[in-house]
Amino acid sequence: MTDTRPRKQALHHFWERIVDQIGYKFTPDEELVDFLLEQEVALEEKFEAPYCPCQRRTGAWAQDMQIICPCIPYHREHYDKMRRCWCGLFVHKDVTDPDTLKQIPPDGV
Ligand code: SF4
Repeated sequence: MTDTRPRKQALHHFWERIVDQIGYKFTPDEELVDFLLEQEVALEEKFEAPYCPCQRRTGAWAQDMQIICPCIPYHREHYDKMRRCWCGLFVHKDVTDPDTLKQIPPDGV
């Protein structure tokens, strides 16, 4: 069985700096972070890109590239409304209790 920890740590390190530039951070729920990173490493191994574990791939590249993590720039208006990304891996920087944030469907924006 492959040790996924090095890749999870690398993604965490890299993405932390990316989302910081756009007002987001990793959720303080460390268990959720570990769970979702585990899924993303598995998706990356299978499909050569860390696709979102919470959104369905269509097979169309132009659409699927919009759900490669972190996908926040493609869904900014929607996620800003929720103050979290769809999976909840990232939240607005000022969020301290992510459990209070609800998923709102895109058409609910
Ligand atoms: S919804 Fe969150 S976890 Fe999923 S790809 Fe987008 S930023 Fe990553």
